[in-house]
Amino acid sequence: MSNLGRSFIMPDDLSSSDQYIKNQESAEKYISRFRKKTLGHYINGARTSTEGAKTFENISPISGKILNEVALGTAEDIDAASKAAKKAFPQWRDMASGDRRKILHKIADLIVARADEIALTECVDTGQAFRFMSKAAIRGAENYRFFADKILEANNGLSLPAKDHINYTVRTPIGPVGVITPWNTPFMLSTWKIAPALAAGCTVVHKPAEWSPLTAMLLAEISAEAGIPEGVINLVNGTGEEAGKLLTEHPDIKAISFVGESFTGSKIMSQGSNTLKRVHFELGGKNPVIVFDDADLDKALDAVVFMIFSLNGERCTSSSRLLIQSSIQERFLESLADRIDNLSVGDPLDPKTEIGPLIHQNHLDKVRKYFDIAQKEGVSVKSGGKISNKEGYFIEPTLFSNANSKMKVSQEEIFGPVLTAIPFEDEEEALAIANDVSYGLAGYIWTRDVGRAHRLAKSLEAGMIWINSENNRHLPAPFGGMKNSGIGRDGGDYSFDFYMETKNICVALDTHKVPQIGK
Ligand code: NAD
Repeated sequence: MSNLGRSFIMPDDLSSSDQYIKNQESAEKYISRFRKKTLGHYINGARTSTEGAKTFENISPISGKILNEVALGTAEDIDAASKAAKKAFPQWRDMASGDRRKILHKIADLIVARADEIALTECVDTGQAFRFMSKAAIRGAENYRFFADKILEANNGLSLPAKDHINYTVRTPIGPVGVITPWNTPFMLSTWKIAPALAAGCTVVHKPAEWSPLTAMLLAEISAEAGIPEGVINLVNGTGEEAGKLLTEHPDIKAISFVGESFTGSKIMSQGSNTLKRVHFELGGKNPVIVFDDADLDKALDAVVFMIFSLNGERCTSSSRLLIQSSIQERFLESLADRIDNLSVGDPLDPKTEIGPLIHQNHLDKVRKYFDIAQKEGVSVKSGGKISNKEGYFIEPTLFSNANSKMKVSQEEIFGPVLTAIPFEDEEEALAIANDVSYGLAGYIWTRDVGRAHRLAKSLEAGMIWINSENNRHLPAPFGGMKNSGIGRDGGDYSFDFYMETKNICVALDTHKVPQIGK
């Protein structure tokens, strides 16, 4: 059995087979409430009626069958949610920061109390494995705690521009904001956006992805239970083309924080242009992991396997391109193929599972298309390369080798458990290949040569670099990408910069004489 490596999303104990049975029973209980009635929206502190609403089907990635019905958000829903956020804004903005902080900490407490429910609901809704989802829910709570504690730091900056003036700078929340999230790790990603928006004093209209809408409602419920005032958090389900687009165009919404595909980001930019929306984009990636022959190869192997196959490879920072030095290519790829063949693919509720089903039939078709493309491009399939005949959207973890940088399998984001290996001779070639894509989200470097590690880190066109490490995140650190991978950064002050306006105030002391003209 392979050890996928360690990160913030690894639970401590995976041994119990009783845990699998417990997970199945609990998941059934949690999901049954969604089956009973159509999932609506959450606007102005209440769940909306779904009577007569047009709906869409939310499909289980595990069985391919309908999980529940979801209301399609309309122009009226987006308008009601945006107006509620606008109405609630002054009260939330002006609330004493200590009180706002208390509510955010209460949300974190309630997330922890319902972490099991959130994790299991998410496993069933997304197909991502319990061993990772259980920690992702807790990380959601940490996002609230971190930004709650930053509230008190939001304003600073006093200066004396002249002897008879005092100058100071304040930051004020920008207003009601739209948060649009994708289907992968949806709960954690939503908290990563919504927690700083609330901490900054903004009100929110959230539009979750149509393929994994369930845990967004759990977050709305938790926020209400924590005492968040009506209208501060609103949720509208529906399609991107309708509900999402309308949100990006609504005049009461001052900014859009978006996570999703690069192509959607460019659409949102033009949709929001009439109302001059501020935008923050976290988009796709085709991230290189560069392994040199002097690296700790055992650790590098752990990290390579972990960073492409955990979370089904449905992860923006996955290391989907392995750049491997030619001198160790054969040896490294043999070991890698062994590890891949031992990955445990199965029911995401089973704590032993390392790879669950992909999110949706359309996504499975997209990923499978790259198996045909690889064949046409003459790439070798060293592991996997087939879809599984199990019920549900299962696919074999796959390793393509002998690829070159110009091939589609090396250039395009596949967003599944598929790794493309490209050989290189030296540092110069590694850098050229690494930067030879339209994306620039993350990069991973494995070498014991400190100078080389820093040279590469400086020259790689990516917003985040890890050296001799998998993806370990520090909440104050900036998170985001360059090139087609995004605009702006999340994390710490970077999040506050997005959700706040900066205002300078200059006060004259009474010793100051105003220049007199026209007298
Ligand atoms: P997507 O772009 O298809 O959809 C994301 C969200 O945008 C969904 O809620 C969707 O309904 C909405 N949307 C779609 N069209 C819209 C429009 N015209 N106007 C407004 N909203 C619209 O992305 P996805 O398939 O859900 O997510 C996978 C993508 O997200 C991958 O490319 C992945 O790399 C990226 N991602 C990036 C990060 C990051 O931090 N950089 C994190 C996670 C995922």
